[in-house]
Amino acid sequence: MSQKVRVRFAPSPTGPLHIGGVRTALFNYLFAKKHEGDFVLRIEDTDQNRYVPGAEDYIIEALNWLNIPYDEGPGKEADLGPYRQSERKGLYREYAEKLLASGNAYYAFDTPEELAEKRAELEAKKETFIYNWHNRNELNNSLSLSKEEVKQKIESGEAYVIRFKAPENEELDLQDEIRGDIQVNTKVLDDKVLFKSDGMPTYHLANIVDDHLMKITHVIRGEEWLPSMALHVLLYRAFGWEIPKFAHLPLILKPTGKGKLSKRDGDKMGFPVFPLQWKDPKTGDLASGYREDGYLPQTVINMLVFLGWNEGEGSEKEIYTLEELVK
Ligand code: GLU
Repeated sequence: MSQKVRVRFAPSPTGPLHIGGVRTALFNYLFAKKHEGDFVLRIEDTDQNRYVPGAEDYIIEALNWLNIPYDEGPGKEADLGPYRQSERKGLYREYAEKLLASGNAYYAFDTPEELAEKRAELEAKKETFIYNWHNRNELNNSLSLSKEEVKQKIESGEAYVIRFKAPENEELDLQDEIRGDIQVNTKVLDDKVLFKSDGMPTYHLANIVDDHLMKITHVIRGEEWLPSMALHVLLYRAFGWEIPKFAHLPLILKPTGKGKLSKRDGDKMGFPVFPLQWKDPKTGDLASGYREDGYLPQTVINMLVFLGWNEGEGSEKEIYTLEELVK
């Protein structure tokens, strides 16, 4: 029997859900339902510096208003939850340890000052500093230090991060369901931080661990994550896990075609870029939303769907229900 399709929408609560995010959620939902699969909502809130109070509630309220129901997620926990990453913290540490033990990751003790110095040194020579195979053996990490030194540093409470050890020179053949074949040579990759000095995982580690544990079969997300795909595939490989299928959706661009659509573009053209009104918790500024401007949820759904799809020549139909779109 083939595997049950499971997809997820994994927003970070760093601000209001943008219409581009709504489209990602919608495509995930439609894909799941078309294949009689599950649609998971996972809140990726491990970056404490970028956390915005109220953003998670906003995301859930927006999905409810749009009638895009999720099968598993906050408020609807299931066996594979909790679905809020801040409630899964201990777990990510365990997986970082596994990568350390298998030699796929290492401790790095470089201070921000040391790294800034390196950066400046290279910039003076018109070169860019990338923390990777190039220089990792000369930097302040467990690859250049003795076991004893590493132990001492950790025991004395010195701050460290855990970095992924990317392969030095390997041609990777990646497959994206939308983009097709993508070739990446690992020599251009940096040794990304997987675990931060504040004891929290980075997006990359938490995302991969959760996609695996939550049995996600298809990762459908915005194209801004395409550059991370090589690292993600390498992480799956390092853990020995099956790699899900990836589909990176083109972004909704500014009317000029350059850059991502922003709130300002919406204001200029007289349409909201948020599903619901959003009150900035810091400034108190109000940004308009489709709901408060009197649009129906179905209008928003159809607008998003028609941005990249139609039923084919001769079709006159202008508005579809979600059930019709699933087919
Ligand atoms: N938390 C990421 C975001 O905010 C999720 C990216 C992904 O779907 O892998 O967009």
